[in-house]
Amino acid sequence: DLTLVWLRRDLRLADNPALAEAAARGPVLPVYIHAPDEEAPWAPRGAQRVWLDESLRVLQASLAEFGMPLVIRQGPSLEALQTLIGETGASAVTWNRLYEPAVIERDRQIKQALRDDRLVVSSHNAALLAEPWEVATKAGDPYRVYTPFWRALSAQRMHLPVAVPDKLVGPTEAPDSLAIEQLGLRPTIGWDAGIRAAWTPGEAGAQIALQDFLDRCVDSYKQDRDWPARPGTSRLSPHLHFGEIGPRQVWQGVHEWLDGSARVGAETFLSEIGWREFAHHLLFHFPDTPSKPLDRRFEAFPWADDDQALKAWQQGQTGIPMVDAGMRELWETGWMHNRVRMVVASFLTKNLRQPWQAGAEWFWDTLVDADLASNTLGWQWTAGCGADAAPFFRIFNPSRQGERFDPEGDYVRQWVPELARLPAKHIHAPWAAPAAVCRDAGVTLGTDYPAPLVDLKESRREALAAFDAIKAQR
Ligand code: FAD
Repeated sequence: DLTLVWLRRDLRLADNPALAEAAARGPVLPVYIHAPDEEAPWAPRGAQRVWLDESLRVLQASLAEFGMPLVIRQGPSLEALQTLIGETGASAVTWNRLYEPAVIERDRQIKQALRDDRLVVSSHNAALLAEPWEVATKAGDPYRVYTPFWRALSAQRMHLPVAVPDKLVGPTEAPDSLAIEQLGLRPTIGWDAGIRAAWTPGEAGAQIALQDFLDRCVDSYKQDRDWPARPGTSRLSPHLHFGEIGPRQVWQGVHEWLDGSARVGAETFLSEIGWREFAHHLLFHFPDTPSKPLDRRFEAFPWADDDQALKAWQQGQTGIPMVDAGMRELWETGWMHNRVRMVVASFLTKNLRQPWQAGAEWFWDTLVDADLASNTLGWQWTAGCGADAAPFFRIFNPSRQGERFDPEGDYVRQWVPELARLPAKHIHAPWAAPAAVCRDAGVTLGTDYPAPLVDLKESRREALAAFDAIKAQR
């Protein structure tokens, strides 16, 4: 009795409840179906596709060690599954759940259709410590504030990860599979070299990233996590997004490392995993938030649509070093440090007054960890219109953020080499540096590096005035 294991964003063998359940029943056939249209408008884009291509190759190789194929097909998913059922005589289909609105609806329809076809169908939780409906306020409502949400979630009994099945038995004959190249995930123009150099997609890469972080960084995470030039964070986000590692494994890894002790770095780190959980909770309960502000007053916010400003921001040519460094790190590596994500998002939505949705879309194209739940939360939080958001009037000053969290200017020097010779004292505000200092550093503003696109103080005042116009509404 063959079971199809429909793999999606759970590209791992360990702690994979769908795979474990199927293996306990008998022979299994792992299947990946490429059906980006079914996730529209949030189908995986540029950087994510590069990651996915590599991650599928790694998964195929690890399954091959068990003598198992990974069958790759094109969507529509339901048709692909039904075809495979016809070809193999499978009697059951199982998968791990996802939480984006379009995917939930698709999966619901597929579950129904397969049950109508008299198949045994099941789905599991591999992606979260607690699913969105498992945590609720006393009144039974979804949480809108992070701290009580996390308190409630962490008080629950955590499920342990499930082991990789000892033995996987495949079908007697493997059905045809597309080659991964045929999915066309890799770009035809090779803009992805920086991404490939920066990351090791796949389950083993994820385990190494976690181990490395525990060995070297977790103890100082609380102090170091805000410093973009320090390797102070785990860089697990793309691995978590693609399910190459699950949060239960991270939870267990941290607790094994703690070995009964209490350490503030580890606590803080787990609370960030909590933000990921909170993001999924919000997306599930407020499914229109990827395009609509949770705080409805912001629907009337006077955004200043300006394509040129948006483009300058995207290209890291705003003339504000911290912002440009972040945007260039993003383009080059598919990732940006969290502190800098907040700085660039605040600059775009407040100083440039561009709609947060435009920023979220750019991140969606360029982040390897682009995740509908976390990206929506991050943008709405920074723009001031989301759940438990930073108040709108708290506008990050990107030069001060630089002076505080990159005092030597190392981060800016790495990503904005035109400014590399400026002394630390001036590197975060070159427009305010004495002319002689710029000359000595070989920087002419407006020629070697842009003059600032906006005046930080004045644009801040304008943003606050725009906010005044909507804040009286309820
Ligand atoms: P660590 O500091 O090591 O944290 C561990 C894990 O906790 C992360 O891998 C991530 O899964 C989770 N996490 C940490 N901070 C957050 C957070 N604020 N919200 C949700 N989860 C968090 N994260 C994404 O995974 N995908 C996105 O598309 C995304 N878009 C963002 C957009 C904006 C505007 C902002 C401000 C933040 C966004 N984040 C997003 C959150 C955060 O910046 C990244 O998760 C983090 O930088 C990833 O690096 P890390 O793995 O080294 O994090």
